[in-house]
Amino acid sequence: MNVRVGDRLKMKKPHPCGGDVFDVLRVGLDFRIRCAKCGRDVMVPRARIERHIKQIIPAGEEEPRV
Ligand SMILES: [Zn+2]
Repeated sequence: MNVRVGDRLKMKKPHPCGGDVFDVLRVGLDFRIRCAKCGRDVMVPRARIERHIKQIIPAGEEEPRV
């Protein structure tokens, strides 16, 4: 799975605030993502995030790459 900083991720499991779209702030062993709805940052291990990604929306694009 190819996720880059600046991409947006649509997740299968929403944030407690109800938002399911996250901006990627950092990639690596741990990903840092920010909820696009409430603005909170979350750290998620790569192994875990990959199972929960529904769609990747590349930086600068509106349409999902799928
Ligand atoms: Zn949120």
